[in-house]
Amino acid sequence: MSAETGLAGVLVILLIFAFAIPAGFGAWLASTKGRSAIAWFFLCGIFSWIAVLALGLSPVAERPVDWAPVRPTKVCPECGEDIQPEATICRFCRHEFSPDDVMASRREARELDDWKLLGEWSVSD
Ligand SMILES: [Zn+2]
Repeated sequence: MSAETGLAGVLVILLIFAFAIPAGFGAWLASTKGRSAIAWFFLCGIFSWIAVLALGLSPVAERPVDWAPVRPTKVCPECGEDIQPEATICRFCRHEFSPDDVMASRREARELDDWKLLGEWSVSD
């Protein structure tokens, strides 16, 4: 057995440990949590133990209804009413938001959408 084949063997073991084991473990963990085992098999195969960790920390998906669209809103500092995150002017009191405010709330809304999509996708089988 040459040094080269020995190195290849170590590499294969590393690859199995880094991708195959988390993929299998992620698929099993997903099925115990009521999520798509196939989707998480690939997710964990790609993102390795990070995805397994994220899955382990995520709550059990009992009712996908929990992910139903909830329109995020922001509260007007002037009148306290809930308004759209994209709004630049409050529709109740005409309070004007700074461009920074609007950017920040848009970003928050988009992040929420991303998580919602991931949730919908990972629970659908
Ligand atoms: Zn207002």
